[in-house]
Amino acid sequence: MDPRHAILFEPVRIGPRTLPNRFYQVPHASGFGTSKPRTQAAFRAIKAEGGWGGVCVEYAPVSRDSDEVPAVAAEIWDDADASALALTADAVHAHGALAGLELFHGGGLSVNGESRAPRLAPTQRASEVQFGSLAKEMTVADIARVQRDWAAAARRAAAAGFDIVYVYGAHGYLVTQFLSPVTNRRTDGYGGTLAGRGRFWLETLEAVRAAVGADCAVATRVAVHGASGLPGIQADEMLELVAMADHLVDLWDVNVGSWPEDSGTSRYYPEGSQRPWTHRVREATSKPIVAVGRYSSPDLMADVVRSGAVDLIGAARQAIADPFLPRKIAEGRLDEIRECTGSNVCILREEAFRHVGCVQNATAGEEYRRGWHPEVFSPAANAEVPVLVVGAGPAGMECAIVLGKRGFTAVHLIEAEPEVGGRLRWTRRLPTLGDWGRIADWRAIQLGKLPAVEVITGRPMTAAGILGYGAGIVVIATGSSWRCDGVQPGTRDRIAGAAQGLAHVLTPELLAAGKRPPGPRVIVYDTDGYYVAPGVAELLAGEGFGVRLVTTFPVLSPVSDETLEGEMLRAHLHRRGVDVQRGVTITGIEAGIARGHDEYAEPWSARCDGIVLVTQQASNDGLYRELTADSAALAAAGIRAAYLIGDAVAPRMISEAVFDGHRLAREIDRPDAAVPAPFLREAPMALAPGARPYIGLS
Ligand code: ADP
Repeated sequence: MDPRHAILFEPVRIGPRTLPNRFYQVPHASGFGTSKPRTQAAFRAIKAEGGWGGVCVEYAPVSRDSDEVPAVAAEIWDDADASALALTADAVHAHGALAGLELFHGGGLSVNGESRAPRLAPTQRASEVQFGSLAKEMTVADIARVQRDWAAAARRAAAAGFDIVYVYGAHGYLVTQFLSPVTNRRTDGYGGTLAGRGRFWLETLEAVRAAVGADCAVATRVAVHGASGLPGIQADEMLELVAMADHLVDLWDVNVGSWPEDSGTSRYYPEGSQRPWTHRVREATSKPIVAVGRYSSPDLMADVVRSGAVDLIGAARQAIADPFLPRKIAEGRLDEIRECTGSNVCILREEAFRHVGCVQNATAGEEYRRGWHPEVFSPAANAEVPVLVVGAGPAGMECAIVLGKRGFTAVHLIEAEPEVGGRLRWTRRLPTLGDWGRIADWRAIQLGKLPAVEVITGRPMTAAGILGYGAGIVVIATGSSWRCDGVQPGTRDRIAGAAQGLAHVLTPELLAAGKRPPGPRVIVYDTDGYYVAPGVAELLAGEGFGVRLVTTFPVLSPVSDETLEGEMLRAHLHRRGVDVQRGVTITGIEAGIARGHDEYAEPWSARCDGIVLVTQQASNDGLYRELTADSAALAAAGIRAAYLIGDAVAPRMISEAVFDGHRLAREIDRPDAAVPAPFLREAPMALAPGARPYIGLS
């Protein structure tokens, strides 16, 4: 280990417990909650195994009037929930780490999709999640009941083996709603002055501390500054509150703002962006502090600890991207650290699909159901067969790495272009997307460490070339290209006048190749909905073009809302001078003008010198089709299997291309490796002993 990093491996006492080191996986959602307890346990345990000294489960609602349905949370409403969560505490302990549970109440932000209970809030307020639906102003009896629920949940958590229980107040939930003068307009003893607004929080901390007794550490999580989206609480006032609550707290888990700011994407937030506020907490407490900041640099981690401002390095996304980060630092294997890209695909996956995933770590969330370990690979039964992988994009690179780790004796990864990386070659050069280059960089470095894997660039492969190559297994990972005929999801049809070879019709790839519109007025037409069109628009605006971004969607880049960056992205483009027009479908292009219709089917047209089509992609699967059309030729060439992976199968998010390449390599010695092996599905937990199932009314 580099001696500069030794400080990160010092034990830290938090109340009655001791963390083995300073690496702390803060609570974060996974989509597993209590409904997939084995998946949850395996997902958290792998981080403990990788060296994270503290590992927490996601938000755990303490009361039934704080349910998150249809989102998934770790409800801790009864003993069956506690039993499910105990699997995680045990699994984390097995690797010597401490386990934490983030007890919470959503208050006015609760969903209550299942319970149908009215939301509770300090003051009646409109719901952000359901139109026309207000929260009930909590009575003093409601307050006491929620605090009793919190204490009961804490008792269950301690009994289930958790070492750290939370009073979670960040991200605008109930505690914050009491603390903020904007959301707390009460005139009784729970509102008004700082002491009044802080009373709910302090009483809850007291109740939880009394409930768990002397063995369990009590943590609290609060935003110490509301720079955006979080009303009313600013650092100076928050420091006073920290001092008031300090005697009840063993660990301060501090962050900033609302969730989109706290989990700020790399597009708009650099590593350590919360420091100006979170590092001020030391002014108010000498207790241990954990703060996050998408830290992936061991030097920076050591520096912030050495500064004395924080005691623990908190991470959610970086711990997903690399569960083994601490061990790699300890062993000096710094170039093996999978750095988080800050693209928030993890959040998109857990929110939209209720199952976390990661573009850098294909094994995230697959530990239980597919038995994948991020660092352990079983030797392949067919490892002696030479493998040719064609296309060094994310899918091909990932596949070649896993094949190499599974002991294949000869893997050739061949790329047509002079550089590896596939679509990342140009994506990473779009404004704000530089950190996405980590996907290609990490893979390029790992490929270089695998002696059996040879990477050959600048060599476009043909079917004849593949047949004569001498490989026994061929993997085609030739990716996808943006269409230049304008075929789009809404009309499922081409755009009249759009075709290849016209100076005024461009695609992202043509831009990447250096082509530019023939005049100053450009339309970027987006029916894709994610990062490409905004990236291209910003690029061209930065070069002095007058850019109008026209989209079919009612809101620009709806996918960016799922990665928590939609609002920032729209404000950012506005500041860059990009003119946005929503709800328009373009159906025809001529030199100088684009035509279509608006959301009311009224005719629409706009003058432009060029148009960039970001409508949809098409798989580059021609090589695979040609190769596999002649099975006799394949057999004669000694090729026993040819597989297609990544965007060449179907264009998707980069995380899915990586997953595809990883999956094939993990299963390539199965009889029909083209078809994913079935994965384990979790059955509901068995009924508690003595419970009688509902069998009818008679
Ligand atoms: P994915 O996301 O599925 O990995 P990408 O489009 O990012 O797909 O990458 C595909 C890669 O395959 C690109 O780098 C491209 O240059 C390369 N490629 C495409 N066709 C060939 C070919 N015939 N021979 C070698 N490389 C190819």
